[in-house]
Amino acid sequence: MKFVYDFTEGNKDLKDLLGGKGANLAEMTNLGLPVPPGFTITTEACKVYLDSGEEPAALRDEVGAHLAALEKKMGKKLGQADDPLLVSVRSGAKFSMPGMMDTVLNIGLSDKSVQGLAKQAGDDRFAWDSYRRLIQMFGKTVLGVDGELFEDALEKAKQAKKVAVDTDLDAAELKKLVTRFKKIVKSEAGRDFPQDPREQMDLAIHAVFDSWNTERAKLYRRQERIPGDLGTAVNVCSMVFGNLGPDSGTGVAFTRDPASGQQGVYGDYLQNAQGEDVVAGIRNTVPLADLEQLDKKSYDQLMQIMETLETHYKDLCDIEFTIERGQLWMLQTRVGKRTAGAAFRIATQLVDQGLIDEAEALQRVNGAQLAQLMFPRFDEDAKVEQLGRGIAASPGAAVGKAVFDSYTAIKWSRSGEKVILIRRETNPDDLDGMIAAEGILTSRGGKTSHAAVVARGMGKTCVCGAEDLEVDTKRRRLTVNGHVVEEGDVVSIDGSTGKVYLGEVPVVPSPVVEYFEGRMHAGADDADELVKAVHRIMAYADRVRRLRVRANADNAEDALRARRFGAQGIGLCRTEHMFLGERREMVEHLILADTDEERENALKELLPLQKRDFVELFEAMDGLPVTVRLLDPPLHEFLPDITELSVRVALAESRKDANENDLRLLQAVHRLHEQNPMLGLRGVRLGLVIPGLFTMQVRAIAEAAAERKNAKGDPRAEIMIPLVGTVQELEIVREEAEQVIADVERATGVNLKLSLGTMIELPRAALTAGQIAEAAEFFSFGTNDLTQTVWGFSRDDVEASFFTAYLEKGIFGVSPFETIDKDGVGKLVRDAVAAGRATRPDLKLGVCGEHGGDPESVHFFHEVGLDYVSCSPFRIPVARLEAGRAAS
Ligand code: PEP
Ligand code: MG
Repeated sequence: MKFVYDFTEGNKDLKDLLGGKGANLAEMTNLGLPVPPGFTITTEACKVYLDSGEEPAALRDEVGAHLAALEKKMGKKLGQADDPLLVSVRSGAKFSMPGMMDTVLNIGLSDKSVQGLAKQAGDDRFAWDSYRRLIQMFGKTVLGVDGELFEDALEKAKQAKKVAVDTDLDAAELKKLVTRFKKIVKSEAGRDFPQDPREQMDLAIHAVFDSWNTERAKLYRRQERIPGDLGTAVNVCSMVFGNLGPDSGTGVAFTRDPASGQQGVYGDYLQNAQGEDVVAGIRNTVPLADLEQLDKKSYDQLMQIMETLETHYKDLCDIEFTIERGQLWMLQTRVGKRTAGAAFRIATQLVDQGLIDEAEALQRVNGAQLAQLMFPRFDEDAKVEQLGRGIAASPGAAVGKAVFDSYTAIKWSRSGEKVILIRRETNPDDLDGMIAAEGILTSRGGKTSHAAVVARGMGKTCVCGAEDLEVDTKRRRLTVNGHVVEEGDVVSIDGSTGKVYLGEVPVVPSPVVEYFEGRMHAGADDADELVKAVHRIMAYADRVRRLRVRANADNAEDALRARRFGAQGIGLCRTEHMFLGERREMVEHLILADTDEERENALKELLPLQKRDFVELFEAMDGLPVTVRLLDPPLHEFLPDITELSVRVALAESRKDANENDLRLLQAVHRLHEQNPMLGLRGVRLGLVIPGLFTMQVRAIAEAAAERKNAKGDPRAEIMIPLVGTVQELEIVREEAEQVIADVERATGVNLKLSLGTMIELPRAALTAGQIAEAAEFFSFGTNDLTQTVWGFSRDDVEASFFTAYLEKGIFGVSPFETIDKDGVGKLVRDAVAAGRATRPDLKLGVCGEHGGDPESVHFFHEVGLDYVSCSPFRIPVARLEAGRAAS
């Protein structure tokens, strides 16, 4: 196996092997763009190293051969005393993990070669500054020395010279600092800073491999759902220097605005700076447009390259570049992260430019982004007190209590508080706090600072670089225009405008929701650009999708909203939701009835109420299917709490005024009490045990349908039996139901055409789906209960009990209640689909568990051949979009 690829050997499609950075450096090299020569060590080499603790045997020689070729190309040797070749060693995984893994620059400098570099560059200061940076970075990332020690030493050197920034330290001071840094390495790492350049390089490569498994990298991967076993590639690249004076610099650029999608010149530039200075947000940058004044030739060349890249990648690209004494070098490019709104707008813009087609446009957006666009925004008409304004780095409207460190953010959010994490700038150690916070506010750094990049990736609101804000993390407060915001004060931040407010600003619905609700029209002249883009993308999705999308709704209001959002029917009406509130007592009477008469009376009371519910629902969904599920609550939900009732009765007894009813009730509750109600008397079992219950519901459905037909409506009811484990249960209910339907048809003279089906939500039902299909005209997979029973996880308890531990240990990356477990639960679904269709080829198949609205699961249901997914009304647009993406 080949472990090392020269930049001239790879291409952009080799991301698995070369990582994103390596693959794109190769692509740019092959496009003839100015990329400093270098090579990439594959993720395969990293995996061998991480699995065995040792690099693959062949690696050393392969690296040696590629290094020799690089040295030949550059006409100098790594670390050569009189004119050293210097290289950077950078991580680069398949998926971008900004700031999560290690990088070491200036490899090849030593006590000797620093002199050579000084001579070649004609700049002592530069050479010694580069050397101190190497020792600092190498000490920290490779040798594990506490970075603060170097920072402190640097700070002391500045204080001694009474200067504010490190660029004001001269060569002599930097030379002293190098000596000091080497001492720190020696005493902390117990070894000298290595003088042998190849040793430096090999150790740095191992450090990059190791950085795949740091805690913060693992946390980031879990958050972003990046698999843990991919490993990182390592890029060894000849160094170019942005810190060689005012005609040098480094910057980042986007081919379009990653926040709005607008074309233009977007980016940040920092003169006389090296590598990570821009992304770290340490010094404030100037807008990229200013480069035109500073260095017109490089600016023009960069604009040209940006156009080449965008046309080549057919997408928004982000770019890192360096200018070394007027010569432009490309250090990285990739398809850039963008906000959810920009994703939709860019996709449609690229269609209009003829760069991509509609099918490709669908792949450029996703359901999670659409869901994000449906979040509310701040009310523009609200009275507000603006504190300041920063850069709109990641959109959204976030309100919370001000906190100034990650620890407090985590602690407060755990106790249910909403917090805004306020920092001068963030670094990778803030990741946990950023996850815990509603939003992030920083006073320094641009659109490409750590805070901005990470927040955008997480879909979290972020305002950065709000320079008027003076953030004092030690005293936990911020000061701005005479205002002092203390820890715990409420602030509101708007990631779409960059505005920061004191107090809680009220929020209003997003324009995308207004559009789905029909209150805003994409065709209107003044329609929001975003709404137009969403409208177009939704139209593409609807045109290509095979899966139909229905809603889980049990009242007319939800049904109507679902319809506006594009639902093509109701896939689950949970009738138990119709018995909440004052009707609960009627069900209690039914369950506790001692005599036939009592029971019949209770049913008689319920029938007209149920019928009215269904009439309303069928009217709301006129012309579309409505699947009504017969009653399925665990029994205890309809009975008084056993402890409360016992206490009440005991107290009454002690006062000697216990009432007959309560005593009876208590006895019954004891009799019906279950240790595991979720596995108890619920669903079809309840229907079989309480005579008349299901037939009352069937009658209500049938009579409601007849009434709607008589009113010239088009009701399309489907009756669904829950929690079936065997076909016999279904047959009994079916026979009774058919009799009732026939009765109603006779009495009303209306032909109802009601269909009858079942949920598949127990493993036994899935395993005997072939038999069950004999008695069912449709299946709806109840993947909530199916997940519960296949895993043996209580759906009501696990999330709060041991799931965190499971997620942390990587047993699963996401809760199986959220995204379908394809291998287990999914296998049962797949097999049941095949068995059901074998028995009844026209069997209708859907899913109504929570998974019906989960993007990844929707793709799975498309693939296994279901006819529809059903989800809550608000998730319908997401399901439509993902169904379209799955089919295109
Ligand atoms: C299911 O179990 O997936 C389902 C939809 O039913 P419920 O959530 O009501 O148990
Ligand atoms: Mg269920």
